[in-house]
Amino acid sequence: MSKIQSIRGMHDLLPADSGAWQQVEAVLAKTLSRYGYQEIRTPIVEQTELFKRSIGEVTDIVEKEMYTFNDRNGDQLTLRPEGTASCARAGIQHGLFHNQQQKLWYQGPMFRHERPQKGRYRQFSQLGVEAYGIPGADVEAELLLICQRLWQAFKIDSHVRLELNSLGTPDCRAAYRSALVEYFGAHKDALDDESKRRLESNPLRILDSKNPEMQTLAANAPVLHDYLCDEAKEHFTQLLAYLDKLDIAYTVNQRLVRGLDYYCHTVFEWVTTELGAQGTICAGGRYDGLIKQLGGKEIAGVGFAMGMERFIELVGQYSPKMLGQPVADAYMITIGAEAELEGLQLADRMRSEESALAVISNLGSGSFKSQLKRADKSAARYAIILAENELEQGLIGLKDLRTAGSEQQLVAYEQLIGVLNNSK
Ligand code: ATP
Ligand code: MG
Repeated sequence: MSKIQSIRGMHDLLPADSGAWQQVEAVLAKTLSRYGYQEIRTPIVEQTELFKRSIGEVTDIVEKEMYTFNDRNGDQLTLRPEGTASCARAGIQHGLFHNQQQKLWYQGPMFRHERPQKGRYRQFSQLGVEAYGIPGADVEAELLLICQRLWQAFKIDSHVRLELNSLGTPDCRAAYRSALVEYFGAHKDALDDESKRRLESNPLRILDSKNPEMQTLAANAPVLHDYLCDEAKEHFTQLLAYLDKLDIAYTVNQRLVRGLDYYCHTVFEWVTTELGAQGTICAGGRYDGLIKQLGGKEIAGVGFAMGMERFIELVGQYSPKMLGQPVADAYMITIGAEAELEGLQLADRMRSEESALAVISNLGSGSFKSQLKRADKSAARYAIILAENELEQGLIGLKDLRTAGSEQQLVAYEQLIGVLNNSK
């Protein structure tokens, strides 16, 4: 019978790698809580309409990447392709935005039907960080500070850099839009089919095209910066002043627009040249109109999403030590039926909150030699050896598995936990 395989572009996280993810996730959660952000968990499936209305009909995601299906009731549902829409929906639904600020984060799988390649998958994980009800540049500076802290925590700060731009207010964007329609309209013959379609519906998106010919054409297009109103300019200048004060290095990239419809004012990307074509680790910006667009009140929103796979890949490449697997303190070898029972009990006492040791019990018996082999393979630091005759004298064997040539020594039963904790 043919073997069933996982779906293309959707990967298993195997035990050899899950420790790295757990470590990264723990640091992310701790860091975000230090900045006063709280976790939100939303369903993986939402009504298709939610994404159409928030991300925008004329975007790569909604036009070609969503996993959409009818459920048994005939409702049209979609596996979430990103997290902001769900976050906003949940906030409106539960009244989280009523006269208060909200600082939220989420992490979990997103789904997009893209062409799978390195750094681009059909199921991938994002960390999202979002702040609602705070319209100023101060919160943008804080979000970028969070990113910088994460890069520093994982020692990859010299491998990423920040690019940012201002998309202005909806009003100044409208003026820019007309200028773009005029420019691209004059080069209509050179546009690819997708861009031709977008010329009327969403000309800004042409700037975001991945087609190199469109990128060349876009290079000579009018720049948004020349159309920014005073309010937008002031907002952006304020942000840059914060970044200078906070020692966050940046490049203003006037070509940076961002694929989604809901952005205004600041947009940014943290990029690296180290991951080839898929070099954007983290991307975000301000989306003040989104909540209203989804039926809520007019309320400010800003945030970013980080691609976990790309981030972990980069950390693995430049500071693999940060992803080292947690190693068990000891592997418990037992010789004889009585020792086996005693071993199960002792190992469990060692794992208590007080003793706080990680102990792997030998399961499935085996000769001393085969148990020692398993101990070695387990990567535990020590082997604990319980043999009946020594146990009767209150003694336990201890062997350092990670120092070449070290001999087994005998330790008093009561001292074992202390000895192991002291050697940590
Ligand atoms: P790209 O231009 O690479 O397609 P995007 O603009 O579609 O990116 P966002 O929607 O802003 O990406 O998502 C934020 C981050 O999530 C990206 O910067 C990237 O790190 C990650 N990401 C997006 N799509 C994928 C994917 N298919 N596989 C893995 N990571 C992804
Ligand atoms: Mg994309």
